[in-house]
Amino acid sequence: MQKYNWSVDTLITRAEDLEKLYKFEERKKDRDENLLKTIKYDYEVIANEVFEMMNKEDYEMPSLLESYEYLKSLYEKCEFLWSDISFFEELTKNKLISVPTLKKNSFSKEDLLTLTHDFYRDLGNSFYGNFMKCFYRRKDHTRFVRDGINNSCEGSTIHLLTFNEDFITIRRDNTIKDFTNLVHEYAHATLFQMNPEAHADTNNIFTELLPNLMEILALDYYYKVTKDNNAIIEKVNGYNSSLVRSDFANHLITLIEEERELGRDYESNKELKMVALNKCGLTCEELNNMLEHPIMTADIILENYLLGLELYYLKDNDKDKFLNTIKKIALLDLKSKEEYYSSIKKLGITPNLHTRDFRDDLKGQVLKLTR
Ligand SMILES: [Zn+2]
Repeated sequence: MQKYNWSVDTLITRAEDLEKLYKFEERKKDRDENLLKTIKYDYEVIANEVFEMMNKEDYEMPSLLESYEYLKSLYEKCEFLWSDISFFEELTKNKLISVPTLKKNSFSKEDLLTLTHDFYRDLGNSFYGNFMKCFYRRKDHTRFVRDGINNSCEGSTIHLLTFNEDFITIRRDNTIKDFTNLVHEYAHATLFQMNPEAHADTNNIFTELLPNLMEILALDYYYKVTKDNNAIIEKVNGYNSSLVRSDFANHLITLIEEERELGRDYESNKELKMVALNKCGLTCEELNNMLEHPIMTADIILENYLLGLELYYLKDNDKDKFLNTIKKIALLDLKSKEEYYSSIKKLGITPNLHTRDFRDDLKGQVLKLTR
């Protein structure tokens, strides 16, 4: 197979292997029910991915109402989060930090993989050891696609529990984002090595916490070794987009609460739009932008970003404690979303202790950059 270019056929072959394995196990007298369940799960993972890979161009934007319903169900599943702390407020009251646009930078695939490797080696600890377990298979488990294919996301990682195998996709942007996306996806792959079941668990709402954090750390690492200002620009871009999301989340909660107060459901796009415009003071364009991108905003739950910032400062203050904490987070394997949340808090990670410091640090860095 061509290097760094796995394809739909690769996944279809795996699906065929799974089918054979399933039939074989099923016929056994002392068959392993857990294994059968795992195989079924993997089969579905592949089916979804293949469907996505083959149907990208037919993707249709959901309507305003469909987006809203989807996001509402996401919020309802995590209601305990927003009744507990007003975690987005610290972000929402800030203004976007303005930075120049990212410069194009055409890294080769080898450059990107080497940088990613060096970043994780620099991080050290068991995280690096587990990273290497997937990195050594990079030639036929990583693929790079051009802009236009797989347009809705910047990268993805699927993990097959049966074969303990990951398939990583990175959409090339020809900017420093190619590097941070690769670091992000390899963090997912590494977490699958450390704790496969919990990382595939939909109750684990913190699966994006460490991958997002690794992106920020990777930008610092890149700046340290290259002094390339694009690293700072991209760090600010990440901050700004979380700010926009936090604004969106606040508006959305207002809408959901409004709907509850009225004791009814919105029935049409038009009706929803009217309420949103009157209640949130949004313009039509703002509203459309916010609600018509459910994939981009699916991780509206900003804890991942805000808790990541706390871990970021912990690394500066006490690296051993930091490494220990991220390992503990990676190994959490619990039953409910609430348990995940309270366990992370018990590790001493409290959102918003350093959000303001992060913004001030960024502003300082941007000032130096434009001077
Ligand atoms: Zn991710």
